[in-house]
Amino acid sequence: MGRSLWFPGFPLPLLSVKEALDIPPLLEVLLDFPQQEVAKSIKLIEGHDKLVFALAPSGICSSSLLYNEMRHKGNLCHWAKFLWNAFIPTRIAFFLWKAVFNAISVDTNIQQRGIPMASKCSCCSNPNTESLDHLLFQGEVGTNIWDYFSKALNLSTCWDMPSLFANWLGKINLSNQFGMVTTAIAALTLWNIWLSRNSARFAGSSMSWISIKNQVITGIHDLSVSFNPKS
Ligand SMILES: [Zn+2]
Repeated sequence: MGRSLWFPGFPLPLLSVKEALDIPPLLEVLLDFPQQEVAKSIKLIEGHDKLVFALAPSGICSSSLLYNEMRHKGNLCHWAKFLWNAFIPTRIAFFLWKAVFNAISVDTNIQQRGIPMASKCSCCSNPNTESLDHLLFQGEVGTNIWDYFSKALNLSTCWDMPSLFANWLGKINLSNQFGMVTTAIAALTLWNIWLSRNSARFAGSSMSWISIKNQVITGIHDLSVSFNPKS
């Protein structure tokens, strides 16, 4: 009470909800007809008015709820949870994120940016053009290693990123151990193919799907030792 709010044409004192409901003409001025009926049906409990936080069922303000309401939210991405989680190392997650967007510097991607170069993959006995799908999935190394792990996990094989999400990651539950191991195998397979390719390209070694498979298995062991889920 005391202070006044100025509405067009007349001053209106600050009122509590109870005081406003006690003045029926006021409701008719301020509210449309359906809202007037709703307002009249409100039953107030005794006691002083107090502020309530509308986002919380308890009415108590929560900074996390408020932040979640105010923050910018992008579109939900169905595959993001397989990259950005507690058991995939961050540098591997960034590599996978770039791979999803075909932003890895394989030969065809360099060519597409206007740099003339001959392409020769390192993953086949008879070299092919090195695209990202070829290197990670469809070349000799990729085909062998995805066939091996698909059989081991009793999943359908995959031949590119969409089929990896459809045939592997779309079939698992990230909250159980099989789901975490399968996700980690997928991530480590892609990552170790890329490391092996770089060693072949820049250090003169040869790519071997057997050695990549062994590196993935070693990596799974190392992750399982270092990963401590919150209990
Ligand atoms: Zn190849």
